[in-house]
Amino acid sequence: MKKAFIYDLDNTIYAVSSISKILFADLFALIENSTEHDGNIEGIKLELQRRPYQLVAKEFCFSENLTGAGFDLLNNMSYDDAIHPFPDYNEILLLEGDRFLVTTGFSKLQWSKIRGMKIEHDFLEIHIVDPSNSIRTKRDVFADIIARHGYDISEVVVIGDDPKSEISAAQELGIETVLVDKTSQFPEADVDHRVTGFSEFRLLYQNL
Ligand SMILES: [Mg+2]
Repeated sequence: MKKAFIYDLDNTIYAVSSISKILFADLFALIENSTEHDGNIEGIKLELQRRPYQLVAKEFCFSENLTGAGFDLLNNMSYDDAIHPFPDYNEILLLEGDRFLVTTGFSKLQWSKIRGMKIEHDFLEIHIVDPSNSIRTKRDVFADIIARHGYDISEVVVIGDDPKSEISAAQELGIETVLVDKTSQFPEADVDHRVTGFSEFRLLYQNL
């Protein structure tokens, strides 16, 4: 029986694409007006909607100067416009078990999105993994949650959209994984389950 479900936020609870135009306007402008990267503007924009800034800056060879400028922008940013979870979000509230939210990103920005969606009371604990001020990883947070609550590894499920992030962190600890792959983006990903949304997710676990 599963006792704890650990959720990712970005592209798991809501679609980053629904807010990215407003959210990234200043950052995209900064990058477009700079030549201090590898030139693949479309690739950079796409990856910024999926992965932590620091990793994207590294991958696309941002200069130290550009990396710092983008970092300062994001570190001070909050998102104050409309933001909504996926329409089937309520399904997860019907699933028995403790809910945790673990997300990587800038603290101020991640909290503004969580509060904007008014979902902060739906989770027993919320953890922001912010690489800009801590070396703690998602794996560390998962391990800490399991230890503090005394769960057996077999009682925990991690659900997220990124095979390289929460999915691999969970796998390193032997936690069951569910990949949210709405557009069959990762057909090769080695996961325990894959779903296109939370209705499917609830069906997987509601009677276990
Ligand atoms: Mg995500």
